[in-house]
Amino acid sequence: MTAVRVPGAPIISDGRLVSTSPATGAEVGRLPVAAGDDVTRAVERAREAAGWWAGLGFTGRRERLLRWRGVLARRIEELAELMHAEGGKPVPDAIVEVLTAIEHIDWAARNAGQVLRPRRVRSRLILAEFTGHLEYQPYGVVGVIGPWNYPVFTPIGSTAYALAAGNTVVLKPSEYTPVVGQWLVDSLAEVVPEQPVLTAVHGLGDVGAALCRSGVNKLAFTGSTATAKKVMAACAETLTPVLLEAGGKDAMIVDSDADLDAAAEACVWGGLTNAGQTCIGIERVYAVEPVFDAFVGKVVERAGRLTVGADGSDIGPITMPGQLDVIRRHIDDALARGGRAVLGGADAVQPPYVRPTILVDVPEDSLAVREETFGPTLTINRVRDAEEAITRANALPYGLGGSVFGRRRAVAIARRLRSGMAAVNSTLTFAGMSTLPFGGVGESGFGRIHGEDGLREFGRPKAVTRRRARSLLPAMTFERTPADVARLVKVTKLLYGRRR
Ligand code: NDP
Repeated sequence: MTAVRVPGAPIISDGRLVSTSPATGAEVGRLPVAAGDDVTRAVERAREAAGWWAGLGFTGRRERLLRWRGVLARRIEELAELMHAEGGKPVPDAIVEVLTAIEHIDWAARNAGQVLRPRRVRSRLILAEFTGHLEYQPYGVVGVIGPWNYPVFTPIGSTAYALAAGNTVVLKPSEYTPVVGQWLVDSLAEVVPEQPVLTAVHGLGDVGAALCRSGVNKLAFTGSTATAKKVMAACAETLTPVLLEAGGKDAMIVDSDADLDAAAEACVWGGLTNAGQTCIGIERVYAVEPVFDAFVGKVVERAGRLTVGADGSDIGPITMPGQLDVIRRHIDDALARGGRAVLGGADAVQPPYVRPTILVDVPEDSLAVREETFGPTLTINRVRDAEEAITRANALPYGLGGSVFGRRRAVAIARRLRSGMAAVNSTLTFAGMSTLPFGGVGESGFGRIHGEDGLREFGRPKAVTRRRARSLLPAMTFERTPADVARLVKVTKLLYGRRR
């Protein structure tokens, strides 16, 4: 049977989630919806597997995760084709996404031991008779909830790091990309057949909510800010720790000494790749007055060349049909408030596609500047100087990534962006650098995936002190004498009492 996607509504048929192409409506696959206590049972199985997985140690897990990485690398075209079929993403973009995910599995597998393993920690003079020991122990079972826009990169950003740290994972993929989610699970099971260290539960938002309440030991969520708040509220009931990777409205600043060709190229890529459905996508640009017109001209020239359509195009369909209305509303609002479309515009939305749209001089209080559009649209506004650009870029409650083009002041500007990440003279590149942490501030969430911080996110710090000699200055004992206390006072003043 061929199912046709109802715009905005996923299809559930006979207890199965039917996944369809946003471009053609053709069925891509169907998966059983988790019902009753399926989610709890999946978590229980993952908990049983967690003991075995943790017991393999860093070396055993590294070997298995590197095998998984190998499967993804060898089957990269197959996975990219599936991502294209299910989410509409152009195949080259899907290849880049999988490559980035592979790099993260590789780095997490190779570095978990060094970052998390037990180590001695230096003690200080007041407890010199003790040694300190620190290690990061796995939580147990980590629940991972993922979005549809990067159905491989986002779940793996949490999953690879959680697994490398010794946890098992129960994944709830987006209802729009469950087949890709299941592919990831099955590919790991091929090389780790012994235990279900990664399993998936499928369904709509209620399945995600059930995962929050299922007894997982930590919940890693990637998705919209609105859902992140619901996830945190649900997890608060059991004090389940959360990692929240939420939405964004990333800005790019173009300074007066920027290479305008490079800035325009990166801007078009950073804003329009994956049809603009990118959490760290550039949505707003602030270009300083002296370069504004030249920069806009170069952006329009490049964006105007992009092809839109199904197979082989630069820009594919909008994955989630309901998003088309949001994009249309943002464009209409910008134009109604005096913004100008220098490319695309009012009739850009032609379901399931949206033509590239560049809006200039858009009021700062319009929807297109303030809210996540998630379409192939960009606002470019002129600013007096870099100071004004920073003020405007930092004016929103979101703070995920960002980009700065320039020479002399670029790094200083990047450091002042209120965001978790920033790219200088490029866009989005921090996502692929496995040695750097990834995450936001404010309404973009908290906690980090990737890098050393991303590994530590999935391990509980365990601190142990160990006595190695008798205490010369007994403090933590009822056996201490008044003379001991007097000596403590003296030492305190000696060590810490200086005025500077
Ligand atoms: P949603 O917030 O709609 O959904 C994210 C996931 O949460 C889905 O699997 C969804 O299931 C599930 N979910 C829905 N309701 C609940 C609930 N009450 N409790 C638990 N889970 C629930 O986001 P989208 O899938 O639309 O993804 C797009 C958003 O993700 C954008 O805002 C984007 O910026 C953000 N994002 C953030 C990234 C980051 O790293 N910061 C990276 C990528 C995207 P279902 O699909 O079945 O509704």
